[in-house]
Amino acid sequence: MKLPPIGSYISTSFIDWPGHVVAVIFTKGCNWRCPFCHNGPLALGVAEELDVGAILDDIERRAAFLDGVVVSGGEPTIHGSLPSLLRRIKGAGLAVKLDTNGSNPSAIGELLNEGLIDAVAMDIKGPWYKYERLTGKAVDVESVKRSVELLKSSSIDVEFRTTYVPHLMDEEDLRMVRRQVEPGRWVIQLVDTRLALDPALVGTASPERARVAEAFPDVPIRG
Ligand code: SF4
Repeated sequence: MKLPPIGSYISTSFIDWPGHVVAVIFTKGCNWRCPFCHNGPLALGVAEELDVGAILDDIERRAAFLDGVVVSGGEPTIHGSLPSLLRRIKGAGLAVKLDTNGSNPSAIGELLNEGLIDAVAMDIKGPWYKYERLTGKAVDVESVKRSVELLKSSSIDVEFRTTYVPHLMDEEDLRMVRRQVEPGRWVIQLVDTRLALDPALVGTASPERARVAEAFPDVPIRG
């Protein structure tokens, strides 16, 4: 059975799916090149490839002690074999949370239809008009919008999240993002530029938490 390439694995995490004890699998490779990405080796696909069979064996052996598995990346939906991985996890009786950039609405739709995902965290990189700048690629924004609508209309647990990069966006951009995802749940993440993919971004200013909290008092802030 073909399975996605895995570039990193956390056997137990209490923070990657709030309220859940999970294992976290990071697939290799991403179709975008966000300048602020802090997972460069995974996104570029150069991280050392781990033994996916051994990881699944470990998860199955500890299934009684886990609530679920977070599948992150890179971008998991670029791999056509993603459903096979999720079927194996669901077969162990575990819930699945998918982290995605939302570029592949057909993959998300198939996973929803087959009942292979229980929760999704989808990145909203910024206002639609800035997507190319924020992803480093020519993006089919309509596809990303389709993913948003699919997830909004689904019955699973969905969170939209935006990394606030002051060098690339301002508070008005964030207000536009909020309108793009309403009435969905939305979270602001404060960028940490120390590991940014684009060297020009490394060391640029991070947002001031107090200022963001004042501008968006009803929005959870992470980072
Ligand atoms: S931050 Fe961007 S480049 Fe990095 S993994 Fe996510 S979508 Fe890919």
